[in-house]
Amino acid sequence: MEIFRSSVLKGRTRLNRTVATILLSLVMAPGLQNVSAQKDSSLAPCRVGRNAPAFGFWTWPSAAHVKVYIRTADFLPEQIQYLLTPLQNWNSVSELTGSGVKFEYQGSTTEELTCENCLTIMRGTVFDKTKRHATETRAYSLHRDQIITYAAIIIDPLLTNTKSLLSAVSHELGHNLGLLDCYTCKQKSTLMNQFKALNVSNELEAPTSCDIAQVRGAYQELKVRVRPSPKGHADDGEEPIDDDTPIVVPKP
Ligand SMILES: [Zn+2]
Repeated sequence: MEIFRSSVLKGRTRLNRTVATILLSLVMAPGLQNVSAQKDSSLAPCRVGRNAPAFGFWTWPSAAHVKVYIRTADFLPEQIQYLLTPLQNWNSVSELTGSGVKFEYQGSTTEELTCENCLTIMRGTVFDKTKRHATETRAYSLHRDQIITYAAIIIDPLLTNTKSLLSAVSHELGHNLGLLDCYTCKQKSTLMNQFKALNVSNELEAPTSCDIAQVRGAYQELKVRVRPSPKGHADDGEEPIDDDTPIVVPKP
C-alpha cells in the first residue's frame, strides 16, 4: 500500500509540473514579444503626470493607413531618415497599442496635402521659446471631432539636430495617436515630455511602455465615445471654437 500511494503521488507531482510548465510558457510567450517595445520600461505602473501622458487628443481613425508625404525640399537629404524612423517605430507597436494605425511613406511632395488620411511633414516657423517647442501638429477633422481627416507636422527651420528631429517627430506622432504633452513626467518615461532646449533631444526615439499603454487607452475609449476637436495645435479657421465640452482626463 505504501509503495502504491507513493508512486501515485510521484505521478501527480510530475503531472503538476508539466501543467505548471505549460502555463508558465503561455504566460511567458506574449511577454517575450513585448521585450523590444518595452526596453525602456521600469516596473512602475503608468501614472498620468508622473510617467504617462494623458490621452484624449487628436487621433487617426482606428486601423487607418496614413499616407505620409515629406516636403523634402525643406530638409537636408541626410535629415530625411530621421523623419522616417519615428514612423517605423510607431508602426512596430501598432498591434500592441490596438490602434492598428500604420504610417506609410509615399514620398516627396511640394505642398501640404489635404487628402483623406494624409499626413504631410514640412518646415514652418513654429518655434516658441517659452514652451520650448519647435514642432507642431496641425490637424483637420471633417466631422469636427477628434478624428483626423488630414494633418501636417510642422518643424521649425531652427530645429536641425538629427537626434532632436527624431525625438520631435516621434513626439508629434504621439499627439496624432491621442497623447497629450506631459511636462511633469519623469525624464525618458514618455515621448511626450518637454524638450530641454532647442536642438537638445529628450533622448527617446521609440514609444515607452507607458506611451503604448496610453495609446491603447485612447483607442479603447474611441470605441465608446469620440470627443470634439481639441483646441490649440489646430488651424484656427477650420476648427470649431464654440465647443465647450469638458475634456475629462481619466484617472490612472
Ligand atoms: Zn507636444
